[in-house]
Amino acid sequence: MNPPSHEGLRKDFLTGYLTRESLIPTVKQLVENYQTYRKSFSILLIDIDFFKTFNDKYGHLLGDEVIKYFSSAIHLDLVAVQTSCFRFGGDEFLVIFHNADSNETCRLAARFLVNMKDRPCNLRGNQIVMSFSGGIAAYPQDGKNVDELLECADKALYVSKRYGRRQVTQYRMIWLKNLFMTVKVFSVFMLFFLMATLVRLNFQDKVYQWIYQGISAEEKLKARFLQRVKDVRKGWAETFEAARHGAHLSLLKLDDGSEVATLRDIP
Ligand code: GH3
Ligand code: MG
Repeated sequence: MNPPSHEGLRKDFLTGYLTRESLIPTVKQLVENYQTYRKSFSILLIDIDFFKTFNDKYGHLLGDEVIKYFSSAIHLDLVAVQTSCFRFGGDEFLVIFHNADSNETCRLAARFLVNMKDRPCNLRGNQIVMSFSGGIAAYPQDGKNVDELLECADKALYVSKRYGRRQVTQYRMIWLKNLFMTVKVFSVFMLFFLMATLVRLNFQDKVYQWIYQGISAEEKLKARFLQRVKDVRKGWAETFEAARHGAHLSLLKLDDGSEVATLRDIP
């Protein structure tokens, strides 16, 4: 295999990584390698989480230090494997793993995430735990050229950001993550609904006892009745408030034999 040559390519002044325009010749070389050796390569698009807050809190100059720290962390954790690293823009980096498929890249990126957590950045005596979100796309499964690969990695990165950051997503696994999150949200909703029902069944009477304190037994009965018939025009809380302030509740018998609770004016 011929690793892509980085000779003569432009470097970013802050991090020493390649700049975005060097991506095309690098990928071209890797595609040629694939045609000979049939070995997949993958790209990992990285974006630092909540980087703006670093800038806002510590200023742009220290923000630059954070970017330098982050790029050296990439170097420490990922460059041992055959890679090409790019500063892609602002707080975005792109790492190409020359010999790794999507799963292998995901494993390395996940390990990098854990390492970042265990290795806080020391900024003016403050220990700052940084994190990033990542999106992974592999050649040729996810995309057949630079643009397609970038689009896939970007979509996967978006999913990582959307589902809480501090995570990496493989493009080919986006559907699974979406499904997992849908099931999770649905389960939380169902759990909440179940709890609310249980609470209602177990404590409703206690709550009513508390609410009806100071109201005569007859009015309590009428208020409860009103509540049960759920008169939409009055609403039980409103009715109760009125009863508390001295309004009189009475039960009216209708022609069909049913009863409806009504409120008389507050004296
Ligand atoms: P998110 O988790 O959604 O990525 O939130 P974020 O705050 O990181 O948002 P985003 O990635 O959109 O913001 C990147 C910021 O990086 C915006 C810009 O102010 C800052 N930035 C871009 N280039 C540089 C730089 O060279 N130095 C410094 N200090 N800041 C930069
Ligand atoms: Mg960011």
